Amino acid sequence: MKVVEIFRSIEGEGALMGKAVVFIRLYGCNMRCAWCDSVYSFEGKYEEIAIDEIVSKAALLGGAIFSVTGGEPFIHNELGALCDALLKLWKKVKIETNGSLWREIDKNVYIVASPKPPKYAINFNIALRANELKFVVDESLNLKTLLKKPFRAAYDRGVTTILQLESNKKTSLKRALALQDELLSFGVVSRVLPQLHKLLELP
Ligand code: SF4
Repeated sequence: MKVVEIFRSIEGEGALMGKAVVFIRLYGCNMRCAWCDSVYSFEGKYEEIAIDEIVSKAALLGGAIFSVTGGEPFIHNELGALCDALLKLWKKVKIETNGSLWREIDKNVYIVASPKPPKYAINFNIALRANELKFVVDESLNLKTLLKKPFRAAYDRGVTTILQLESNKKTSLKRALALQDELLSFGVVSRVLPQLHKLLELP
């Protein structure tokens, strides 16, 4: 598989924030978001590494969770096979996705979907399957978007909903708190969270 980097840090975003994580960053993305902070994951260098070698490298780094990220992991045909191999190590396996694509994945894999502006497109399988929906709170996020039909389907089944501050900006916090209130009036409980790794200046 095309791998950009394998490294250990803490989870900086979402409900697993602060946990020790080994990140496996795969190469390539189907989107080009204006504020992307990992452009190197689709414009930089990568190494072709076999799945068993990826698993060995990740295992050596320890950590409580393996996070397959990108770029966009779902563009890779071998994503399911990689997750199966990682699950055999008896650790939690997580995928970070923009939510627009889908392929079959073991039901024990924890999926975090972060739909991207301007369309906030989400594959319906992801809406039905994701463990977390994570929205970056920038000026384009609004209540109408948050109440789109596929997102409502996810709220109805109790998905963990995160309003994540954009680069921990104060304007983003103000907007996030307002959106949290608006969502509450529709019975949707969300969590407003910063980007912990940026606060702590970790990778
Ligand atoms: S989906 Fe993620 S990796 Fe791809 S361009 Fe957008 S922010 Fe960057």
